[in-house]
Amino acid sequence: MPKPTIIVHGGAGSIQPYIWQEFRDGSHAAAKVGQQVLDTGGQALDAAIAAVRYMEDDIAFNAGTGSALNREGTVECDALVMTDDLQCGAVASVLGVRNPVELARVVLEHTPHLLIVGEGAVRLARAHQLALCDPAEMIVERRLARYMQMVQTRADFEFDPEKDATDDVLPDAPSDTVGACALDSRGRLAVASSTGGMALKLPGRAGDTPIIGGGSYCGPAGAVSCTGHGEAAMRVCLAKYAYDLLVQGASAAEATRRAIDHLVASIDGRAGLILVDRAGNRAWATSTRRISIGIVESLPEDNHGFMPKAQP
Ligand code: ASP
Repeated sequence: MPKPTIIVHGGAGSIQPYIWQEFRDGSHAAAKVGQQVLDTGGQALDAAIAAVRYMEDDIAFNAGTGSALNREGTVECDALVMTDDLQCGAVASVLGVRNPVELARVVLEHTPHLLIVGEGAVRLARAHQLALCDPAEMIVERRLARYMQMVQTRADFEFDPEKDATDDVLPDAPSDTVGACALDSRGRLAVASSTGGMALKLPGRAGDTPIIGGGSYCGPAGAVSCTGHGEAAMRVCLAKYAYDLLVQGASAAEATRRAIDHLVASIDGRAGLILVDRAGNRAWATSTRRISIGIVESLPEDNHGFMPKAQP
C-alpha cells in the first residue's frame, strides 16, 4: 500500500508578500492536521475534511469565517467533498454555516442528492446540529475593509476577474479558497474544497468549488482540487480534465501542468490546482501569479510555501 499522504492549497492568485507568512503557516498547519488523521489510521475523507475545516476556521483564508464578501456585503459559502467511489456531497450559497465542508459531508452521507443550495442547505445543517451563526459573525475586518475599498473605487461595482486575477490593485482576489486531496493507508482517495467565492459576486452565484468536475473531482485514479477564477475552471471542467489525464496515463506532474496549459490555451483562464494520484504522488500547477501549497515535508526556504507556476 502507498504511504498515506495529503496536499493542501490555500488559494491561487496574486497573494502579496505581506501575507505570505500567514498563508504559509496556515497551509502547513492544515496539512499537518490532515496528515495526523492519516498517520493514525484515519480515512482519506476524514483527513481532507479536517484540513479544510482547519482553514475554514482560520480567518486568513477565503472559506468559512473570513470569507470574501459578495456584492451585498454578505459571506456566502460553497463546499464539496468526494471520494474515489464517486460518492459526492456539495453545498452552494449557504449563509451562517460555520463549516460548510461539514455540511457537504452531510449531503454525501445523509441525502440521496449531490448538491443542495441556499436555504434548503441551511435547514439541512440545522437538522444535523451543525454549528450555525448570524452570517455577520463570519465577516472579518480585513475582508470588510477590502469590500469597502472595492465598492468605493469601482463606479460599476463590478469585480473584473480577468484583470483582478493578476492585478496588484486587488491583491487577494481571486485567492484564498481552500482544498485538500488525501490518500489513506487503505489506498482510498478523497477531496474536500471550500470557498467564500469571488469577491463582489452576485448573491446566489456558485463557483467551481462545489461543481463536480469543475473545481473538485475524485475517482480511483486520483483526487483534484482547483482554485482561482471559478467561471474559467468550470468552462473547461478543469478538475475532471486533470483527472482524465491521469486515467490516460499521465503522471501527476504532467496532469496538473497539461490541465493548466489547456485552461490557458482554451480561454486564457486564471486558476490553479492540486492533485494526489493513487500512488501518492502529489503535484500542483497554476496560471495565476502564485498558489499557496501545504504539504507536510518542508518546502525550500526561499519559496515560503508558495510555488509560482511550478511543480514539486
Ligand atoms: N474558485 C473560487 C470561486 O470562483 C475562488 C477562489 O478560488 O478563490 O468561487
